[in-house]
Amino acid sequence: MGGQKTAILSVYDKTGLLDLAKGLHDQGVRLLASGGTAKMIRQANFPVEDVSAITKAPEMLGGRVKTLHPAVHGGILARNIQSDDSDLSANSIDKIDFVVCNLYPFSETVARINVTIPEAVEEIDVGGVTLLRAAAKNHSRVTIISDPNDYHDFLAELKKDGEVSEKSRQRYALRAFEQTSAYDTAIADFFRKKYAGEGEQQLPLRYGANPHQKPATVFVQDSKLPFKVLCGSPGYINLLDALNAWPLVQELRKALHYPAAASFKHVSPAGAAIGVPLTTQERQVYMVDDIDGIENSGLAQAYARARGADRMSSFGDMVALSDEVDVPTAKIISREVSDGVIAPKYSDEALEILKKKKGGKYLVLQMDPDYVPGVEETRTVFGINLRQHRNDAKIVPAETFNTVMVPKNSGPLPESALRDLTVATIALKYTQSNSVCYALNGQIIGLGAGQQSRIHCTRLAGDKADNWWMRFHERALSLKWKKGTKRASKSNAIDLLCSGLVPREGIERADFEAHFEEGQVPQVFTHEERALWLAKLQGVAVSSDAFFPFIDNVFRAARSGAKYIAAPTGSQNDGPVFETAEKLGITFVEQHIRLFHH
Ligand code: 5GP
Repeated sequence: MGGQKTAILSVYDKTGLLDLAKGLHDQGVRLLASGGTAKMIRQANFPVEDVSAITKAPEMLGGRVKTLHPAVHGGILARNIQSDDSDLSANSIDKIDFVVCNLYPFSETVARINVTIPEAVEEIDVGGVTLLRAAAKNHSRVTIISDPNDYHDFLAELKKDGEVSEKSRQRYALRAFEQTSAYDTAIADFFRKKYAGEGEQQLPLRYGANPHQKPATVFVQDSKLPFKVLCGSPGYINLLDALNAWPLVQELRKALHYPAAASFKHVSPAGAAIGVPLTTQERQVYMVDDIDGIENSGLAQAYARARGADRMSSFGDMVALSDEVDVPTAKIISREVSDGVIAPKYSDEALEILKKKKGGKYLVLQMDPDYVPGVEETRTVFGINLRQHRNDAKIVPAETFNTVMVPKNSGPLPESALRDLTVATIALKYTQSNSVCYALNGQIIGLGAGQQSRIHCTRLAGDKADNWWMRFHERALSLKWKKGTKRASKSNAIDLLCSGLVPREGIERADFEAHFEEGQVPQVFTHEERALWLAKLQGVAVSSDAFFPFIDNVFRAARSGAKYIAAPTGSQNDGPVFETAEKLGITFVEQHIRLFHH
């Protein structure tokens, strides 16, 4: 075949095929084609040979075997090296220079309603994928054209230069690899739904973020899901919450060696805490004073704190717990409005309690504590893939907070400050940005999430911290509730009272008053009462997921008792920020890692 180039054509989508055949023929290229492709070219009166001309074997098995043959793949895969050349000549095989191939429409077929497995199986292209992969692999010599949209440029280049440049061959090879990859993904998706046991590698979800977003699913590609559903059926947002809340408590546990808990809503924590023993007052404020055995359960105390930080925001939460769930913890959860829980283990008794919640529909997930995600994570937004190294930065109390900017020459931070900065900072790592967190006693007391402006986070978190502290005021502790008032209604009324938002009159006022016993409606706090009480909130640790651009953040933090602030530096205003902290008696620690989370 002295110098004549050879092309193999095997296309399902025959768009542009005849123009391509003509163009190749005009360039003196020998055309070989599989059954249907050859037929169409022949009918248009261009010279073409059947692939069997080189394989000396007929297409068989109803088309399952057409091009799968050493004469084809030897011709494609051979390099321009002597040993390959001698192999080819020993077997009377000619080199192939161009491969044109596109695949059976698997995705279109399985998108049909009620498609059967045998129908889908017949659409799994074997020989075509092999042609694509072999030619793409050998792109240093072979050109692989897998998209009819490329025919024009390919022919133009061939006509102009008599060959296809290395750069073009590389581009076409990449396109072929992308096609085989997408094709295999579609096949695996189909069979995962059919053959992977539900809950093992995949799980259909009721819907996505909203009820009209169907279908929805959760899956992993290479192994088993790292969690088991012990009760209920998870929703899409439940899983977003659970898969952010779990690593948060796992990290808190590892960093501080206490059981840890988090209460998530809309992919940010409403609360997070470690199991620092509760005072009598805290038990009352967190509405857990009647839970038997709570004083002996670090986990129950951690959840009481996480849930108690911002009871309003925690309404309908997704709970994450670092340790085996015991009865006291399950009891706290069982009487709150909550959507689900994720934990590494449950005692039999605790599981029974949880399984009774929500008429048996409460979501209980068991997480594999040894699961470690891959270092890269990919997500798709508006059809576009984004990939990044997972945020696996470690917050280590003794190292993360040892760069004190002001006051100069101050010694190491007290343990309690290190603990609270750690809680606040690990919480921020799993909070939608921008975010600022206030912590005390090993728990979040105020968290501002998802605000576009940092000062709005600082204010929101500060207002929440103030509200939290007002709940410890004697008046808030001695409320006389009307019989039958529900826990959530109590929390709402307390929030109104403590945030100073009770109206003077009108139906909203009447609604507020209706929660209390006759003649026992609490007085609203005066400005002076608030100021006096809030001045007693002290020793608070504040962390920010990025630097403070202005000193107003420091002013606001100071108003809610901030004694320690940790934040990344790098703002043009770093100097004034440090100075302001120093003037206000705040220790400012540089925290080196920016912690944006989206
Ligand atoms: P034609 O219409 O030429 O008969 O078939 C073209 C289709 O067959 C292309 O989509 C190509 O990917 C596919 N194909 C090529 N070789 C083989 C083979 O050996 N087995 C199977 N199952 N499909 C092949």
